[in-house]
Amino acid sequence: MTRASVPEAAFLIASLLFIFGLKRLSSPRTARSGNTLAAIGMALALGGTFLLPGMGHFGWILLAIVIGALPGWLLARRVKMTAMPQMVSLFNGMGGACALFISLGEWLGKPSGGRELGRAFPMLLGVVFGSVSFTGSLVAFGKLQGLITEKPLRWPLQKTGNALLLAVILASSAAAPSSQNEIWILLPAAAALLLGVAQVLPIGGADMPVVISVLNSCTGLAAAVTGFAMHNMSMIIAGTLVGAAGSFLTVLMCKAMNRSLAKVIFGSFGLAPKEASAAAQGDLSMREIAASECAVMMGYARKVIIIPGYGLAVAQGQHLVHDLDEALEKRGVEVKYAIHPVAGRMPGHMNVLLAEADVPYPKLLDMEEINPEFDQADVALIIGANDVVNPAARTDAASPIYGMPILNADKAKNVIVIKRGRGAGFAGIENGLFYNPKTRMLFGDAKKALQELVTEVKAL
Ligand code: NDP
Repeated sequence: MTRASVPEAAFLIASLLFIFGLKRLSSPRTARSGNTLAAIGMALALGGTFLLPGMGHFGWILLAIVIGALPGWLLARRVKMTAMPQMVSLFNGMGGACALFISLGEWLGKPSGGRELGRAFPMLLGVVFGSVSFTGSLVAFGKLQGLITEKPLRWPLQKTGNALLLAVILASSAAAPSSQNEIWILLPAAAALLLGVAQVLPIGGADMPVVISVLNSCTGLAAAVTGFAMHNMSMIIAGTLVGAAGSFLTVLMCKAMNRSLAKVIFGSFGLAPKEASAAAQGDLSMREIAASECAVMMGYARKVIIIPGYGLAVAQGQHLVHDLDEALEKRGVEVKYAIHPVAGRMPGHMNVLLAEADVPYPKLLDMEEINPEFDQADVALIIGANDVVNPAARTDAASPIYGMPILNADKAKNVIVIKRGRGAGFAGIENGLFYNPKTRMLFGDAKKALQELVTEVKAL
């Protein structure tokens, strides 16, 4: 093997590791090793880059790696599960910035003669997609982190402004390849940076996870085209994988929420107030229940279906759910879990949460599998879930979640809901299920309520 072919071999092995790693991410059982494989692939790709002919300035490169890796490692270790979407958004933004700066650096470092269209075109795409992804992801991060209002921000002539920015990007990109003037590459970069902000600010916080996934595919695309410009195979493959994965995720999330991508990008989900108004339910009131009564209902049931939601993740009550499950099974109660595809704040959130507490994976059933079983369940125990069990999605055509497939908790013989108070879910709307005559509310933080339930069931 010649010296020049060593980096190529490293890139090839890295690309294979990315593909196998991604494949293993498809199941919680193999996800950890998949992540490790992909990380080894990334280390190989980095190592291979050091060996590329003409490489130098190793001190600076190492310094940049330390500056990037240290905060990344610290943040990843400390981040709470519930803050994962904004962390993904931040990292995605960094990916976009990388594509922007690599393409820009490549462009500015070459005299115009070296910019034949075959290379100029991917560089321009890298600059534009990288810029949109960079600033768009930072705004999404700000919204989810509470640094920017979650409400959709609107201003006059917004769409016209965005169309103008797009026109600037197209016109200056067309002029860039044949010009010596650097303004023609800086102009689309600046317009695309602005477009990222202008496009994400008007979208409500509730739709941020979908937006992040769209921006994720944008970053993937930016990395892939930058790979074309640099003739770097592993960048092309890694970028394509990220782009394709982001696109699939976007489609799946939109499907699970029954919202078109256009509605997410141009709609107004999340405009409703966060605190639901009881007035919407007329004179109906919620009926409270004590933990001891819940324990009797569940302890003497034949079948209990547990519905975990965002509140369970916030309360970090997953280990207690498993304890409750075991206590009930000891009494001969059949316990299953109903997993809605968008329960929580990121795809697979509930699966990851419950896997962390060693809940056996076969007990977690997807919506399509579990929905036909609700009418045989004696109790549906809803823990910190709201939108994913809201019957308005089936019946109220005016509701922002109308059409979203939901878990049929209302079909169970009895429904118990654990939540702290009357707070609305992510969509900010009232939930009629909480006023249903067969529903009982066990008010309190999910962890505390579950602790009481476990004690009471064990004492039966
Ligand atoms: P929701 O956000 O609808 O409801 C969560 C409920 O948990 C709230 O009503 C809140 O009520 C309660 N809660 C909060 N903290 C606690 C706590 N410490 N203890 C007990 N209860 C608590 O959650 P769902 O999981 O039902 O729905 C997810 C929502 O997120 C959907 O609207 C979905 O479309 C959206 N979404 C999800 C994505 C995903 O990928 N998973 C992506 C995009 C959007 P209270 O304040 O009264 O306690």
